Amino acid sequence: MEKKKNIAILGSTGSIGTQTLDIIEQQADSFEVSVLTANNNAELLIEQARKFKPQYVVIANKRHYKQVKNALADLRIIVHAGDDPLEEIICQPTVDMVMTALVGFAGLKPTVAAIRAGKEIALANKETLVVAGELIMELCALHKTSIIPVDSEHSALFQCLVGEKENPIEKIYLTASGGPFRGYSLDQLRAVTPQQALKHPNWEMGAKITIDSASMMNKGLEVIEAKWLFDLTAGQIDVIVHPQSIIHSIVQFQDSSMKAQMGLPDMRVPIQYAMNYPERLQNDIPRFNFLDYPELTFEQVDTDVFKNLKLAYQAMEKGGNAACVLNAANEITNKLFRDGKISFLEIADLNEAALANVPYNPQPGLKALFESDAQARAWVKREIK
Ligand code: NDP
Repeated sequence: MEKKKNIAILGSTGSIGTQTLDIIEQQADSFEVSVLTANNNAELLIEQARKFKPQYVVIANKRHYKQVKNALADLRIIVHAGDDPLEEIICQPTVDMVMTALVGFAGLKPTVAAIRAGKEIALANKETLVVAGELIMELCALHKTSIIPVDSEHSALFQCLVGEKENPIEKIYLTASGGPFRGYSLDQLRAVTPQQALKHPNWEMGAKITIDSASMMNKGLEVIEAKWLFDLTAGQIDVIVHPQSIIHSIVQFQDSSMKAQMGLPDMRVPIQYAMNYPERLQNDIPRFNFLDYPELTFEQVDTDVFKNLKLAYQAMEKGGNAACVLNAANEITNKLFRDGKISFLEIADLNEAALANVPYNPQPGLKALFESDAQARAWVKREIK
C-alpha cells in the first residue's frame, strides 16, 4: 500500500478546515492528519482531535489552552498554544502538505514557514498571495515547492492548464456568482444589513469571505491571487458574473480556444483535487445534471456600484504594498460592517481612502508588509472614531 499523505490543517474548525476533514475521513486510504489548529473554537478542535488523532494540536488563542490540554490528556497528542509553535510544528518532517485554511493576514507567517521547510501548500488562504504574492512565489521557486490552489476559481484555472505548459495564456475569466446583492443599485445597497449579506446564494462559507463575496472584494482578492499564481497582467484577467456558479473559471488560449472547468458548487471538489493532485480520487459528491440547469447565464459586473473590484485592480497595478494595505483595510471594514458599526457602502469607501492615505512602499520585504498591514488597520480604526 502507498504511504498516506500527511496533512497539517491550519484552521481546521472553519468552513474549509471541516470540509478538508470530511475528505480525509472519506479517503482514509490516501490521507491522514498530523496537525490540527484553530483560534477560538476549542470544543470543535477537541472533538476533531479525539476523532482524527493528530500528532499535534495548536490553539492560537492561549486562553483556551488548558481546556484543550485537559480534554486530550488521555491521548498521545501534543498540545500547544499561541502562534509561535505553529511555525515549528508544520515544518516537522512527518508533514507532507499544509492546508492553509485560516482566514486573513494571519495565514502569511505560517505559510512562509511551511514554504521555507519545502512543504507542499494547498492554498485556501488567498490573503497570503494578495499581501505578499511576489515574495511567496519567489520563495516557492527558491525552496522548490509548489502551491496548489483550493479557491474554486483558481482550482478551475489550474485544472484547465494541466497539459498546457507550452501554451501561453491569452486571458482568463474568473467567474463570480454576484453574491446576494447581484444587480443592486447604489441606492439599494445603502441600507443592506449584515444578516442579508451573510446569506450567500450558492456557497456556505466562513463569515469573512461571505461578506467579501457580497461586497465583491472577494473577487478583487481573487484577481490578485490569479495574477501571482498564473503570472498574469491586469489586462489578462477578466471577471464575469455567472449566477449559477457551475462554470468555475475559464482559460482562453492564443488560438481562441477556451477551456472551462465546471460542476456543482461544492468546495470539497477543489479541496480534494489540491490534496491529491495530479490524480483524481473517486468520491460520492453529487454530480451535475444539465437538465437541472437549462440556462447558464453571464453578466457584466458594475464596478461603479461594486467599487471594491475596481480598487483591487488599482492596487494590483500600483504594486508594492498597495494590495497589502487594501487587504488590511478590508479585514477591518469587513468586521466593522459585520458588527453593525459601519454601513455596507462604507466598506469600499474606507478601503479606498486607506489605499490613498497609507504610505506607499514600492518594494516591501516581509517586515515592511507587516508594518503596512498594521498601519492600514490603525488608519481605518482612527478614521471611524
Ligand atoms: P472560517 O472563518 O470558516 O474559518 C477560519 C479558520 O481559521 C477557523 O478554523 C479559525 O479558528 C481559524 N483561525 C482564524 N484566525 C486564526 C489565527 N489567528 N490563528 C489560527 N487559526 C485561526 O473561514 P473559511 O474556511 O471560510 O476561509 C478560510 C480561508 O479560505 C479564507 O482565506 C478564505 O478566503 C478561503 N476560502 C474559503 C472558501 C470557503 O468556501 N469557505 C472558498 C475559497 C477560499 P476558530 O474557528 O477557532 O476561530
